[in-house]
Amino acid sequence: MTNEVLNYCANESCNAPIHFGQAVFKVGHELVCSGKCLVAKLGAKTVTAGKEEPEGNE
Ligand SMILES: [Zn+2]
Repeated sequence: MTNEVLNYCANESCNAPIHFGQAVFKVGHELVCSGKCLVAKLGAKTVTAGKEEPEGNE
C-alpha cells in the first residue's frame, strides 16, 4: 500500500497531507481532506436550521 503524499489540504488551518487514493473534495484546482475543511475553505459553516449556533464549536 502506497503512502505517497500528493498534495496538502487547501484549508490553511488543517493543511493535512493528502495521500494517493484518498477520497477528497475538489475546490477549483485545490483539494481538501474532508467536508469540514470544504466548508471552511468555502467560508461557510455548519449550522442547525432555526438556530444560529455552529455545530462542533471548537
Ligand atoms: Zn483538511
